[in-house]
Amino acid sequence: MTHVDLQSLVDDIAGEMAREVVRGKVADYIPSLASVSSDKFGITIIDHAGDCYSAGDAHSPFSVQSISKVFSLTMALGSVGDALWTRVGREPSGSPFNSIVQLESEHGIPRNPFINSGAIVVADVLLASYKPSEILGEFIRFMQMVAGDDTIHIDKAVAQSEQATGFRNVALGNYMRAFDNIVHPVEQTLGTYFHFCALSMSCQQLAKAGRYLMCGGRRHPGTADTIISQQRARRILALMMMCGHYDGSGEFAYRVGLPGKSGVGGGILAVAPGIASIAVWSPGLNSHGNSQLGMIALERLVQRTGWSVFRSN
Ligand code: GLN
Repeated sequence: MTHVDLQSLVDDIAGEMAREVVRGKVADYIPSLASVSSDKFGITIIDHAGDCYSAGDAHSPFSVQSISKVFSLTMALGSVGDALWTRVGREPSGSPFNSIVQLESEHGIPRNPFINSGAIVVADVLLASYKPSEILGEFIRFMQMVAGDDTIHIDKAVAQSEQATGFRNVALGNYMRAFDNIVHPVEQTLGTYFHFCALSMSCQQLAKAGRYLMCGGRRHPGTADTIISQQRARRILALMMMCGHYDGSGEFAYRVGLPGKSGVGGGILAVAPGIASIAVWSPGLNSHGNSQLGMIALERLVQRTGWSVFRSN
């Protein structure tokens, strides 16, 4: 692979993104997301050696939203292992992130853990392993541990807004309850899910948190500091590749060629296995609810580095 100066690369990409005119539409279903300027753009790459390259608004915290689904899934697999898969599938949905339609024909089993219904089940599974009063603390501690940063927190105002406006999520929870695929009180499971979505992190913190997926389950390469097994890390990456961008997952795989997970706050976590953990953030979204510029920035990055899980030379 040709040597690329990663700092110049992220600086160039941030400069190019600042000049983009079509920036997508900022999520407006809650005030704290609607008030974020679409001018923002941040990028961080952490390479295998742990060196960190950032540009733009890489240190500004933003609402992680559905990217948290990667981390709640990691925790749930750690708690119950493959038993999780009796309650949630592993297939791409081809539907919007908040869709309810497939739940009827599939008897309340969500297609995958990265759509809302799937992540609500994951929250319900975690409630069987942790007391309701402890689960959010455990989640935050897990995030702080994987990122090596004890300032990471949940934005309470975002969590409250999610709760006040999350009627579709409440519908999903109740619908799955009818199939006995939610076993705790629906308000408790949803409260947990809404707080996971309200996690606040910067690109730099998110790229750090993604290192264990880059390093085959280890927090640092070449150490015994294992978060999950190598096999599990690979499998989470496979799910990110197939399902991480909802009904835009095929397009993301085609254009970027790396496993990735988006959130409606405009963040994307992408992983080049063995090479880099990458976080981008730009709040304007495309029609699938994925960051418009985040995807373009990742496309430019892989064009210039040659990073791809499909690379054959
Ligand atoms: N909080 C959002 C929701 O539950 C998360 C969705 C997303 O990031 N795509 O609808």
